[in-house]
Amino acid sequence: MSSRYLVRFDDLCPTMNWDVWSRVERAMLSRMVRPILAVVPDNRDPHLDVQPARADFWEQVRHWQRRGWTIALHGYQHRYVNQNSGIIGRNAYSEFAGLTEAEQDRKIAAGLKIFESQGVRADAWVAPAHSFDQTTLRVLARHGIKNVSDGYALRPHKDAAGCVWTPQQIGRFIDMPAGLWTVCMHFNSWKESDLLAFETSLKRFEDRIIPFPDAVREGETRKASWADSAFATSFRAVRRMRSVMPCA
Ligand SMILES: [Zn+2]
Repeated sequence: MSSRYLVRFDDLCPTMNWDVWSRVERAMLSRMVRPILAVVPDNRDPHLDVQPARADFWEQVRHWQRRGWTIALHGYQHRYVNQNSGIIGRNAYSEFAGLTEAEQDRKIAAGLKIFESQGVRADAWVAPAHSFDQTTLRVLARHGIKNVSDGYALRPHKDAAGCVWTPQQIGRFIDMPAGLWTVCMHFNSWKESDLLAFETSLKRFEDRIIPFPDAVREGETRKASWADSAFATSFRAVRRMRSVMPCA
């Protein structure tokens, strides 16, 4: 089987970069791409204050969801409170990992309450900074969220607790021989060159881009294999190596 791709955009909130977003949205519509959109329920992170807040933000989110795009709960306030990198280990800061179950439950319940009051369903979990732990997963399951977009596997799979993991490994489109690759992008800081690169990539990869529900369906019936764990180990090693290399 050749490689397939999922498109994910993080950090959607009322003060996001609407100018860039309008071009991103248009490009995805013209190629019939159905992305994962990670929405911050109650943003308090000044880094995501890029343009004046738009009053119709939640109307837009409902519109995207009706269109069949996946809406993920992206934490609660996008505010990092410690140096815990959680089970993924990518960034040493977190809104969730290391906190008590009661504290994590309070945040997730508050985020979901906002979604609910706005008529939006949480289709998946996307942790701010990829940082969360087993407690987060337990709390999410209790609130009915069993789809996670994260981790370094080759393909989606279901764990022993019934959680379906759709891996997220890369930040731009790269030609891969096999596997399912989620490309996670942060459009808030994009320049013209990033937009052009994205439009070019969509044109090149459009036949291999699948929507999130297809990945979940595949994960529902599949346990992680030795190939997934071998892949995760080497992928982490390469990431670590690149982070210490000056030209990486
Ligand atoms: Zn984020």
